Amino acid sequence: MLIQSYEEYQKAYEASVQDPEGFWAEIAANNFEWKKPWTKVLDWNFKEPKIQWFVGGKLNITENCLDRHVRDKPQQPALIWEPNDPSEDSITLTYRQLFDRVCSFANVLKRNGVKKGDRVCIYMPMIPELAVATLACARIGAIHSVVFGGFSASSIADRINDSQCVAVITTDGAVRGNKTIPMKDTVDDALIGCPTVKKVIVATRTRTPVSMIKGRDVWWEEEVKFVNSDCPAEEMDSEDPLFILYTSGSTGKPKGVVHTCGGYMVYSAYTFMNVFQYKPGMVHFCTADIGWITGHSYIVYGPLACGAISLMFEGVPTYPDAGRFWDIVEKHKVNILYTAPTAIRSLMGFGLEYVEGKDLSSLKVLGSVGEPINEEAWHWYSKNIGKDNCPVVDTWWQTETGGIMISALAGITPLKPAWASLPLPGIQMMLVDENGNEILGGNVSGNLCIKFPWPSTIRTTWGDHERCRTNYFSAYPNLYFTGDGAMRDENGFYRITGRVDDVLNVSGHRIGTAEVENAINMHTGVVESAVVGYPHDIKGQGIYAYVICESHLNDLDLTRRDILATVSRVIGPIAKPDKIQFVSGLPKTRSGKIMRRILRKIAEGETANLGDTSTLLDPNVVEEIKNGAQLLK
Ligand code: ATP
Ligand code: MG
Repeated sequence: MLIQSYEEYQKAYEASVQDPEGFWAEIAANNFEWKKPWTKVLDWNFKEPKIQWFVGGKLNITENCLDRHVRDKPQQPALIWEPNDPSEDSITLTYRQLFDRVCSFANVLKRNGVKKGDRVCIYMPMIPELAVATLACARIGAIHSVVFGGFSASSIADRINDSQCVAVITTDGAVRGNKTIPMKDTVDDALIGCPTVKKVIVATRTRTPVSMIKGRDVWWEEEVKFVNSDCPAEEMDSEDPLFILYTSGSTGKPKGVVHTCGGYMVYSAYTFMNVFQYKPGMVHFCTADIGWITGHSYIVYGPLACGAISLMFEGVPTYPDAGRFWDIVEKHKVNILYTAPTAIRSLMGFGLEYVEGKDLSSLKVLGSVGEPINEEAWHWYSKNIGKDNCPVVDTWWQTETGGIMISALAGITPLKPAWASLPLPGIQMMLVDENGNEILGGNVSGNLCIKFPWPSTIRTTWGDHERCRTNYFSAYPNLYFTGDGAMRDENGFYRITGRVDDVLNVSGHRIGTAEVENAINMHTGVVESAVVGYPHDIKGQGIYAYVICESHLNDLDLTRRDILATVSRVIGPIAKPDKIQFVSGLPKTRSGKIMRRILRKIAEGETANLGDTSTLLDPNVVEEIKNGAQLLK
């Protein structure tokens, strides 16, 4: 399954396009355990859409993530857990220990009436029990819906009701940085409006006093005393749902994306191994939360299916100080670090003093995900963290794709800063214009689509198949539309220019917001920026930039002129922002993405109706920006 040279990549890619079914069937058969073989590799059309992989095949993903490694290497660490507070002990669970915990907790779920096909909401901080809970659901065939632990009661209630969950798994509280956060209290508030939930299982983390309702609420630690750790894996159909996961809500109301057992297993493991070039014994640290797809695919399922050592971190990158990631790398001798541009840019802003003196020599591969990574951040990451010795893989993908779609394979395929680069084997990308005509050749840009299904293609949006069709499969007939815009160079490398809504048309020139941000961020003193369009009488669209500067800069007029000069030099005068507003923060989703739709509304002067803001991290930032925008007019 591991691609080991550029030639092998090219061969694999070629084979995957010539004969996709043969290509994936071979990978699925040779690297995974199936209880029964499939009868048909693929059945699909993008019209309904209907996508089925390994049709008729039977398996349980936890047998692939646990049982087989317990047989081969029971004492190897599976999960390393690093707590929020560095003075607390970290925990290592071997494959044997993780297996036992998953099986016991699976029996707890059964004891509490959870059955195959039931939906279970998991609302927990990043503690080992979160990974155990997801795998325990998979063990018995319950469909998990992990809701990121920072969401409010009403966001939890919406998600529980959307998928009619029968149970919730949570904790008493959570610790993040120097804050203690109630979890069970929030769940209690949510459940006032959730009649389908019959059971709440509460794990202890903070010993915060909580109310426990008789007949509904039980303690994790008490329940496991009633069960043993013998729990045979439920036989699942390849196309049975494995989980529901709501998108992060950058562009609108979150969608309940459904992934199924067989295809998701194959694709998350295949991409994990190849993109990061995982070799036995390496320690993989993905800094995402399991509440997002990145955590599902590259903390839990992908790494465990490959028998890897996966590190999960409870805290935040800036606690106790901005050197925490580097401390963790040093302490656990991390080999692969996978994080987001928003974290990199924020840590850049704190300066190099937090990196200096840390032993980062164990690092071999660096990864980025979530947003376009601007060149400045890419180089900072490569130079100061990777010591110019680690490939930086910029991985483009979506909740809906289940796994990485466009990325370099670390050390195998060429790198190009700020370019996600080449599609993975099996991924047939295509650029189209507004009318759906394919744009061929190099040095072009357009809307990013996919021609052919891959094993972890979104199957449906829970409870509303029509929404899945209209969102992803109706813009262009017979294509999956990503919603993102991209450029392609003469070598077939892709660069994501942002959401299609974010591609600007300035006096007839198409300019991606990411390109302009990249140029602005190159200016020294700029920490982060976000660019949107607004209606402009002459140009059609004007460019509005929100910019965060380092705090010591006080001549903002000069900075403004310098930024314009920088953009002019990097892209050209056409891309010079018409308006620059200096801000202290940007509106972000809880997964760390900039919500450009809110910034767009503010730039357009439409502040009354900002749309769905339920996934916003810090609403105060929006107020500040609204007020600042008034002054700019
Ligand atoms: P919603 O669909 O609810 O608006 P969302 O799109 O933010 O939320 P995700 O599935 O978490 O939810 O994010 C996928 C999107 O993130 C991609 O469509 C793309 O815009 C962006 N993205 C992810 N990785 C990269 C990357 N490496 N480079 C550029 N953009 C990326
Ligand atoms: Mg999306």
